[in-house]
Amino acid sequence: MTHMTIPEKGSSREAVISNLKSMKSGDADWHSGQLFGLIYEAGERVEKLVREAASLFMIENGLSPLTFPSLLKMENEVVSMVLSLMEGDDHTVGCTTSGGTESIFMAIKAARDWARQEKPQISKPRMVVPVTAHPAWNKAAHYLGIDIVMTPVDDCFRADTTAMKDAIDENTIILGATAVTYPHGMVDPIPAIGTLAEEYNLWLHVDGCLGGLMLPFLRKLGYDIPAYDFRVPGVKSISADVHKYAYTPKGISTVLYRNSDLRKFQFFMYTEWPGGVYGTPSLAGGRPGSAIAAAWAVMHYLGKEGFLQLAQDARSATEKLMQGIANTPPLYVLGKPDATVFAFGGKDVNIYELSARLKDRGWHAEAQHLPASLHMTVSPIHNTIVDDFLKDLGECVVDLPATDAEDISEMAAMYGMIGTMTDRKVAREFALAYLDDLYNLK
Ligand SMILES: *Cc1c(COP(=O)(O)O)cnc(C)c1O
Repeated sequence: MTHMTIPEKGSSREAVISNLKSMKSGDADWHSGQLFGLIYEAGERVEKLVREAASLFMIENGLSPLTFPSLLKMENEVVSMVLSLMEGDDHTVGCTTSGGTESIFMAIKAARDWARQEKPQISKPRMVVPVTAHPAWNKAAHYLGIDIVMTPVDDCFRADTTAMKDAIDENTIILGATAVTYPHGMVDPIPAIGTLAEEYNLWLHVDGCLGGLMLPFLRKLGYDIPAYDFRVPGVKSISADVHKYAYTPKGISTVLYRNSDLRKFQFFMYTEWPGGVYGTPSLAGGRPGSAIAAAWAVMHYLGKEGFLQLAQDARSATEKLMQGIANTPPLYVLGKPDATVFAFGGKDVNIYELSARLKDRGWHAEAQHLPASLHMTVSPIHNTIVDDFLKDLGECVVDLPATDAEDISEMAAMYGMIGTMTDRKVAREFALAYLDDLYNLK
């Protein structure tokens, strides 16, 4: 393969920026509220604030708290504010990380090392996690050498606690639960899972990556939110992403522990390096100051009042969208979602074809499978587009092909294919080849 080389001579700043802008023009237009995922959009004034805060600390490196004490102070304050939302007490502590994946990774690593001390007889550790858990769990299991057993969910897409109990064996060290599952937007029955964790002396990590900065505000607004935080005995750690429902640019999440003895299992320290004593709280070495500053800024800028308003906007949009979808046969909402994320399917129709038609009109309601459905992550901004979306949805749903129809668009066929391939090993190989191809220069 011939590689692209760094140009012999540089270009002007104007030319470079203009090039970037032109590349960007082919991307999804999230400002308009047509994207239901990836970006958590709270409107122009929040965007302006985070851009300004991030740029102030764009170059500073979070690796050295002694060189940039401002970043350390901001990090500790951000963690503390998130802890206060999780009903922590004087003993609860936490850290920031680069994102939900790293937060989950860190909690699982801490739990593994805790088990090495608490349950030294276990040589092949194992965790029990509902199928709706985020793939970051599978990734962490894969990287950290832990077996992972996926248990089914009930008819409402919440963890089946009996199945989890049945899956616990003598090698099990970790139970997983999620407070707002990504695929369907549910809160798992965490008190019941917490009881199991206590009964078997297991580490329960609650993945609040998606719900962590949303559920506390919905609860304050009076919505009936099931228990999921440190009030539940048995919960040892919680992850909560700031770069989701705290509306900051990517690069910041939190991982929280019931006490500092548990958090110590996360830390890394090496004292014999010629480069000096090297310790980090989390996986990363160098860390962007921009993400930390933006997180700190948004919390002070919005205040509880601002978060409450945005949570109300997002939930109102969610309710109107779910209602509109339920009123558009053959579409239906999966289960009774607790917060601002949901999925919808279509009875006896090819739902992926609907996704393709919506995409032609600029809407991104992404496909998921097992069962086939479209996914909606709702942001405050969506409160302004509900009617437009439902109008387009009503038009796109007309004459959708049946589930087994052959005359469907290429995109819908692609979506459907991996989900329905009976040989899952072949499906995996196919998807891997696709990934490999993506990350080649074209
Ligand atoms: C987004 C998400 C994650 C992973 O977070 P990243 O920031 O994408 O690494 C984990 N769990 C849930 C429930 C999520 O929604």
